[in-house]
Amino acid sequence: MRFISTIIVMSIGFAALASPQEEKENKKEEKDNFKYLTEQFADAKILRYQVPGFENLSLKQKELIYYLSQAALCGRDITYDQNFKSNLLIRTTLEAIYNNYKGDRTSEDYKKFVIYLKRVWFCNGIHHHYSTDKFLPEFSQDYFSILINSTPPESLPLMKGQDKNSFIRELMPLLFNPSVASKRVNLDSKSDLVLTSASNFYEGVSQREAEEFYSNLKEEAKKNKQDTLIAFGLNSKLVKEDGKIVEKIYKVGGLYSPAIEQIVQWLKKALTVTETPEQNTAVKKLIAFYRSGNLVTWDEYNIAWVKDLNSLVDFVNGFIEVYGDPMAMKGTWESIVNFKDVEATKRTEILSSNAQFFEDNSPVAPEFKKKKVKGVTAKVITAAQLGGECDPTTPIGINLPNANWIRKEYGSKSVTIDNITTAYDQAAKGNGFLEEFAFSKEEIERTGEYGHLAGNLTTDLHECLGHGSGQLKHGVGADALKNYHSTIEESRADLFALYYISDPVLIKFGLVPSDEVAKAEYDGFIRNGLMTQLVRIHPGKTIEESHMRDRALIARWVYEKGKEKNVIEKITRDGKTYFKINDYNALRTEFGELLKIIQRITSEGDYNAAMELVETYAVQVDPVLHKEVLARYEKLKLAPYTGFINPVYSLVRKDGKVTDVQITYPDDFATQMLFYSKNFSFLPVR
Ligand code: ZN
Repeated sequence: MRFISTIIVMSIGFAALASPQEEKENKKEEKDNFKYLTEQFADAKILRYQVPGFENLSLKQKELIYYLSQAALCGRDITYDQNFKSNLLIRTTLEAIYNNYKGDRTSEDYKKFVIYLKRVWFCNGIHHHYSTDKFLPEFSQDYFSILINSTPPESLPLMKGQDKNSFIRELMPLLFNPSVASKRVNLDSKSDLVLTSASNFYEGVSQREAEEFYSNLKEEAKKNKQDTLIAFGLNSKLVKEDGKIVEKIYKVGGLYSPAIEQIVQWLKKALTVTETPEQNTAVKKLIAFYRSGNLVTWDEYNIAWVKDLNSLVDFVNGFIEVYGDPMAMKGTWESIVNFKDVEATKRTEILSSNAQFFEDNSPVAPEFKKKKVKGVTAKVITAAQLGGECDPTTPIGINLPNANWIRKEYGSKSVTIDNITTAYDQAAKGNGFLEEFAFSKEEIERTGEYGHLAGNLTTDLHECLGHGSGQLKHGVGADALKNYHSTIEESRADLFALYYISDPVLIKFGLVPSDEVAKAEYDGFIRNGLMTQLVRIHPGKTIEESHMRDRALIARWVYEKGKEKNVIEKITRDGKTYFKINDYNALRTEFGELLKIIQRITSEGDYNAAMELVETYAVQVDPVLHKEVLARYEKLKLAPYTGFINPVYSLVRKDGKVTDVQITYPDDFATQMLFYSKNFSFLPVR
């Protein structure tokens, strides 16, 4: 599970100014002058992030990061292909034009073409990474023909014997027809979720057929006394061949083999420099999984990975999150390579070592609490490489593995990615967003002072305690809530965090200096859930992404609940809407009440109650408020989504031996994307 940035970060000026002595230090100066924001296009901005502490790692650790970073890049095309069947064909075509087009590159049309290509890179395909709606080029179909016709045929991915006209006819509807593959992940339960979603996990198979296939598979496993806890369907595409439904497994020798073979090659190199025996076992299991595609091995890998607690360097690499599948079964490929921020981790260690306390004292009904919380480990990490679904847009917190039974028996690892949130915060300094939407100067100052800490602590609580808390009633499957699962699960984790961030125990633990931190978090959360996150929604659209639904659900539920007592007040000033919290304690109680409800729904797998909550609070948009928010946001000229440029690692060799790994920070998004496409494309485009 993952935690993504709530929005356009709201902290301002939190970093203390450097003292004169410090400024003398070269490194520090470099850091302060580091250019975070490199460019902005459509609704996206591109940031660079620093990898502080990389230089201080041992050679072996640096080498490990290098090999894992290469493995992280090798799966890039898998993500594109999973997102939509024609993504690789489209990306390759656009890049061929970008690299070889002979016509005018200064025209407005050409600029629009470049923006479209950048958006495809940003979203790993032609659907918006967040809303999952297909976005259309702003140039015309005629212009697209001109581009193709002025690009040498040998550079285009033409089929054998295909001429340019037929090629143009093939691509035109994919790019320009809004009703072809209009949505990547359709979660509207009124239709067939599988057939109406463009993501490439099923082909020629209906939702009912897919459901039947997997329930049969589970029955069969039960009958044969096989492992029934495996994540059925996680690493495969379900297709109909000659009227028969079959699973195409992602593995060496199976689907995506050329890319997976490359990943395995780099993982084998990583094996030579692992830090601990546990890490070595985990990497070996992962290689074995990629070779066999066996989901029992996948679970064994996850168990080994959870047990590896002493390595500084760690990584995620595999078919992990299921947000891309409307049925929440199939894992999209992703990777994050990272290492522990030892100093900042002291914060999360306090939380995780008190996990049982938090579980026991939560407002949840006793029967849905874990009697014994196992090994919740939490750390603050420094990301070193983003890959697959986590690149260029990345979560800021992750809690894995996703398998409930492993979490229960062996625990889970939860991380907060500090160098990414730092990049967000630094880039947001003084961008005017907070000043526009916060009700008072007091709120602005509080956010400036405590926003960064509040945000990171909420992520810690969400990931390390929230997702790990609670238990399912016996016999309730993790997929019981189907299309509402992700929203409910994210709400559950958010509520756990919101409830506890204002618990006086955090002051006692020395994690926060005062209750101002919780206030800063509540201000931001309510403002965002009721209002500012709407900047991400196009006029006339509803809220669809599960984290956004989760925030709307919570904020609107507590707003309605406390209306009589005026817990949250809606204020209009100079024609602008604001939300002001009048009673922070009452608000906390409401968060607790909703957490209790949501945990019951989760534990009992109460699909109807989940539907009721989500459909009532999380989906619809007030058009008047929406219009106002968009207009206010428009004036700020900001982009609501953020992607990142990865650093580049290179091996330094002397006499054939690796003596160091160098890190550099490139600053051009297009160059990095083209470099990846040139060097890490291993899959056929059709
Ligand atoms: Zn989450």
